[in-house]
Amino acid sequence: MTDGDLLQDRRQYVADSENRFVEELCELLRIPSISTRAEHAADVARAARWIAEKMRRAGLEAVEVITKEGQCPLVYGEWLGAGPQAPTVLFYCHYDVQPAFLADGWRSDPFQPVIRDGKLYARGAVDSKSHVMIQLHAVEAALAKGALPINVKYLFEGEEESSGAHILSFVREQPQKLHADYAVASDGSMPDRGQPALVYALRGIVSCELRVQGPARDLHSGHYGGNVHNPAQALCEILAQLHDENSTVTVPGFYDQVIELGETERAELAQALPWIEREWHEVTEAPQAWGESDYNLHERTGARPTLEINGIAGGYAEEGFKTVLPAQAIAKISCRLVARQEPAQILRLLADHIARLTPPTVTSELRSAGYGEPAVVLELGTAVMEAALTAYERAWGKKPLLLREGGSIPIVASFERELGLPMALMPFGYKGCGAHGPNEHVYLDMVQKGIHTMLHFYDELARQHAAAV
Ligand SMILES: [Zn+2]
Repeated sequence: MTDGDLLQDRRQYVADSENRFVEELCELLRIPSISTRAEHAADVARAARWIAEKMRRAGLEAVEVITKEGQCPLVYGEWLGAGPQAPTVLFYCHYDVQPAFLADGWRSDPFQPVIRDGKLYARGAVDSKSHVMIQLHAVEAALAKGALPINVKYLFEGEEESSGAHILSFVREQPQKLHADYAVASDGSMPDRGQPALVYALRGIVSCELRVQGPARDLHSGHYGGNVHNPAQALCEILAQLHDENSTVTVPGFYDQVIELGETERAELAQALPWIEREWHEVTEAPQAWGESDYNLHERTGARPTLEINGIAGGYAEEGFKTVLPAQAIAKISCRLVARQEPAQILRLLADHIARLTPPTVTSELRSAGYGEPAVVLELGTAVMEAALTAYERAWGKKPLLLREGGSIPIVASFERELGLPMALMPFGYKGCGAHGPNEHVYLDMVQKGIHTMLHFYDELARQHAAAV
């Protein structure tokens, strides 16, 4: 039997199983595995057991639900039958979901999946239970029709939407169990349904709180207005100096570890620019774009660091009026980081700068919010990245675009840091699918394409790996 026959056989298996595959996805969607709310802990555990059972039926071995007191279970399964010459891939997905209530504006019960116009509506449909099932259905099809050409390990997380603490400690403590040649994180969304796109860079983040203190207590603005420096005003004066007229961050040293994009990469990023710009307009509905004029929207989002004021509080802003001169004012600030910017170092630079900007009439304190992650840039040209690009091209009929994304995915940074594996991100969602919002859905044709993409990926990775070693 040739490789082509084998692929044909697997595709036939997927076609014959289509209804059952959708029904199984619905079964998983009916379990409200909401990790952000303690009262759903039993549901998260039930979803973990359901996935473990599905893994066994798909032909995976050493399947195990890994529990830890006070944290949501991980689910592990593997198939190592391709032998020691073949590469081993560690796949990551998450099966927990955000909360959802009918009253949030859902047209139907978020935990009773329904299909309308080729879209399956339910909480978790796109983020990220369809990804879990794409992985399990693809491996099931491959194992049912001859063996896989690669070894596979699956690690599914149950608290991606909350703390994520369990998987981070597990990866740190059990690197042997997760030993592999490559890793794939299957999650996320593409900016266009018909045009595949792969993210290879994610920004890091660091967050902090700035507190500006004036008088010891709130004061009467009639008695003390005009002779005490109002901390709310002092805070605004400080914040207003953190960017210059070119929207550049003024913190000295802030850009020292930023790597400028080369011409080749800029040209590559420019290809996805029309999609990024369209999405920007659709989602923000802001009057006009803002940011560093030397960089386009894609570059500003994915290759430049930011300093963002996430919230300001101080004085009285409720209904009515109170002529108060507040004792203190607070701002929550976070920076998205790129390249080699270190969260702790950026925080230090920012603290020094704010200390210099603080006038003698008030005192200020910048405190870490305990949350930091460096940026990640996945290496292009690795076997796993090439296999992913080719697999998408085969299944979608179009060459994927390459994207830099502005957000952060802690597990990707953790895999990089602890396991040091070449990695690819393989999303099968669409950005307009309402992840985290009401009426979340997934396009069933994208789920089908996802399964086919994975089938191509197995063969392609075996080939690329053999060529690379
Ligand atoms: Zn999510």
